[in-house]
Amino acid sequence: MNASRPSVYLDYNATAPLRPEAKDALLRALESPANPSSVHAAGRAARDLVERARAEVAALVGVPAGSVTFVSGGTEANALAIESAKAAGVERIIISAIEHDAVMETAKASGLPVEALPVDNRGVADLDWLAQALDKPGKTLVCLMLANNETGVIQPVDKASTLVRAHDGWLHVDAVQAAGKIAIDFSGLGADTLALSAHKLGGPQGVGALIAGTRATVTRRLHGGGQERGRRAGTENVAGIAAFGAAAKVGRETLASMAEQAQWRDALAQRLKAEGAVVLGEGADRLPQTLCFAGEGFGSEVQVMTMDLAGVMVSAGSACSSGKVKASRVVDAMGRADLAPFALRVSGGWASTEDDWIKCGDAWLAAWKRIGARRREVA
Ligand code: PLP
Repeated sequence: MNASRPSVYLDYNATAPLRPEAKDALLRALESPANPSSVHAAGRAARDLVERARAEVAALVGVPAGSVTFVSGGTEANALAIESAKAAGVERIIISAIEHDAVMETAKASGLPVEALPVDNRGVADLDWLAQALDKPGKTLVCLMLANNETGVIQPVDKASTLVRAHDGWLHVDAVQAAGKIAIDFSGLGADTLALSAHKLGGPQGVGALIAGTRATVTRRLHGGGQERGRRAGTENVAGIAAFGAAAKVGRETLASMAEQAQWRDALAQRLKAEGAVVLGEGADRLPQTLCFAGEGFGSEVQVMTMDLAGVMVSAGSACSSGKVKASRVVDAMGRADLAPFALRVSGGWASTEDDWIKCGDAWLAAWKRIGARRREVA
C-alpha cells in the first residue's frame, strides 16, 4: 500500500471490512470468555451472547431463532445443508451452473448424481429447464444461490421453490452474498435451507449459519457435545457469533443505504461502457453494490495487479482460494466464454464512498487507455 495515497477497497464480496458494531461485540465477548454450556454466571452470560446473536441473525432473514444453527462459515453451512438433504433421502442433486465452489464441490463429493442447471446470457437460472429436469423420477435436492458472487445477479428462487415443492424436493439457497445487501424473507423464498456467512456482511471470518425450515431436518456432521441443539457439536465461537449478530442487526437496519451504492456503481458502469467495456449481467436484477465487467484483451490477473498498484483493491471474476486467477466459469456459463478471461469484479458495501467508485473508474480507465495506446503502436 502506498502511504501517501489512501487505498480504495472495493472487494466486499471477498470479505467486507469489519463493522465497528461487530468489532465492539467481538472485543467485549473476548474480554470475559466463558463456555456457554457452563451453568455458572459467566457461562450464562456467554450463552446470553449466543442467543441474542441468534435472534439477530434470525431477524435478518425473517425466521424464528430456533431455525438458526451456527457453523464456521458459508462453506460449512452449504455442506451441512447438502449432507442433511442426502441423509433425508434425496437421490440426485441439481445445482445451478453458477454456484460457488462450496456448493459445487460438496455436491460432487456427495456421491449422488449431479446435474447443472443452465443460466441464460444475463446469468439467470433457466426455470423451464428445471421444470423438465424435476419431472424425472427421484427425490431431488436443488441448489440455487440467491445472488451470484461474481456478477451479483439475483436468482428467481421463489419461482424455483414452487417447482421444487410440487415435486417434493429440497431447495437449498446459498444466500452468503445476498445477506446485508438485499432484504431476505426465508419463507417468501420457499427455501428448505439457507446458508449465511458473517464476513460478507461486516462480521468476522470463520462464522456463519445454516437456516433450516420446518420441512428440513439438519443432520449432525460433527459428533461430540450437544451444542446447537445437537446439530453441530463443539464449543461455540462465542465472540465470532456475538459479532455476527451485531453485524446482522446493523446490516438489517441500514439496508436502505445500499441504494446509493447502486447509484455509484451504475455511474461507474456508464463510464466503463462508454470506453468499450462490457458489463455482465446488466439486464438482470443484481445486488446493488456489485459490478462485473470485462475489457476485451485486458486479462483479469493483470487488471487486478494494475489496479492494486494504483491503490484500488478489487478481484478477478473468479479469484480462487490459492489467490490464482482462472477464467471465470460463471461468465462462461452465461455464454460469454470469449470474455471469461477478462472479467473483473468490483464490490462495495457499508463503508464505500462515491469517491471510492470514482477512483476505481479513474484507475481502470487510465490502464485501459494505456493498453489501447500500446495496441495502436504495435498495429
Ligand atoms: N458461497 C458464496 C456465494 C460465497 O461467495 C462464498 C465465499 O466467497 C462462500 C459461499 C463461502 O463462504 P465462507 O468463506 O464463509 O466459507
